[in-house]
Amino acid sequence: MRVLGIETSCDETGVALYDSDRGLIGQAVYSQIELHAAYGGVVPELASRDHVRKLLPLLQEVLEQAGVRPREIDGVAYTAGPGLVGALLVGAGVGRSLAWVWQKPAVGVHHMEGHLLAPLLEEPAPSFPFVALLVSGGHTQLVEVEAVGRYRLLGESVDDAAGEAFDKTAKILDLPYPGGPELARLAERGDPGRYRFPRPMTDRPGLDFSFSGLKTYTLNALREELAARDDREQTRADVARAFEEAVVDTLVIKCRRAVREMRVGTLVLAGGVSANRRLRERMERMMRDEGGRAYYPRPALCTDNGAMIAFAGYQRLAAGQHEPLAFSARPRWPMDSLAAV
Ligand code: ATP
Ligand code: MG
Ligand code: FE
Repeated sequence: MRVLGIETSCDETGVALYDSDRGLIGQAVYSQIELHAAYGGVVPELASRDHVRKLLPLLQEVLEQAGVRPREIDGVAYTAGPGLVGALLVGAGVGRSLAWVWQKPAVGVHHMEGHLLAPLLEEPAPSFPFVALLVSGGHTQLVEVEAVGRYRLLGESVDDAAGEAFDKTAKILDLPYPGGPELARLAERGDPGRYRFPRPMTDRPGLDFSFSGLKTYTLNALREELAARDDREQTRADVARAFEEAVVDTLVIKCRRAVREMRVGTLVLAGGVSANRRLRERMERMMRDEGGRAYYPRPALCTDNGAMIAFAGYQRLAAGQHEPLAFSARPRWPMDSLAAV
């Protein structure tokens, strides 16, 4: 079965083709980073318009890459939420229309289910059941996963998502937008011994997170150094390192707690922040200590992409699920309300 996947929930236009026999046979992502950089964040209306411009050219590119004609596609999957509603409607409208013209089924995919299942595109793939840490620009969640569509939320951020905290802290450090990866790069040169930032909410039981305090902590640390006339590049790197260490350590502590409580030996990392090298290394080490294993996708499948939507859509289409001709998008959509396949 060949499924076309379309992702337009935020500022990446992603298109991919998943073949259940051969795996990913074509994929392309266009990032709108430059478009939004001048504003320091995503401008929803500009995002929608750019998806309109880029979606069909990307589709053509992917079809050529895969050497596949439209009639050889068996179904279409598009992101139906959560995300920016105008942006979502572009992908949903195009996806639903293509499926109608091709007379094939279409399915609306949950963006976070896409992230969550992306590690299954890799070899070796994790097997169910597992605990998943979803860490992205808009979400930080621990989810117990029994099977495709069987999700139980174990804990989540009560304020900023980890990726959001990375991006906001990067801004404080004067790094260009979007800051997460830039901050990680700066932290490489930082001395981990100079500052120690708190590990929020780790001193009490539970699996929730809070990351908004860490950016204030960064701001204060930086202000103190500036007041003491220390504005060296090394100081910024040391502060970035302290921030990254605090986020990574907090995530590791909560993940260890979750796998112990759930008694599972498999931890899956997904979402943009799971591209972070230090996070991957620490989680691998922690899971080895626990006698289990951590899984995560290649960096290109951590951030937004069409492949994860094609793959999640395939799971649902293969189980016979699809949408009627009317389509909709949901800016908010709790993942544990999804049907099992
Ligand atoms: P959501 O998936 O919750 O709707 P999103 O789609 O905007 O949000 P993703 O595309 O999954 O989020 O991930 C983007 C986030 O990942 C950004 O916040 C970015 O800063 C962060 N990120 C990407 N690479 C890294 C890295 N190496 N280190 C830290 N953060 C990173
Ligand atoms: Mg993005
Ligand atoms: Fe995402």
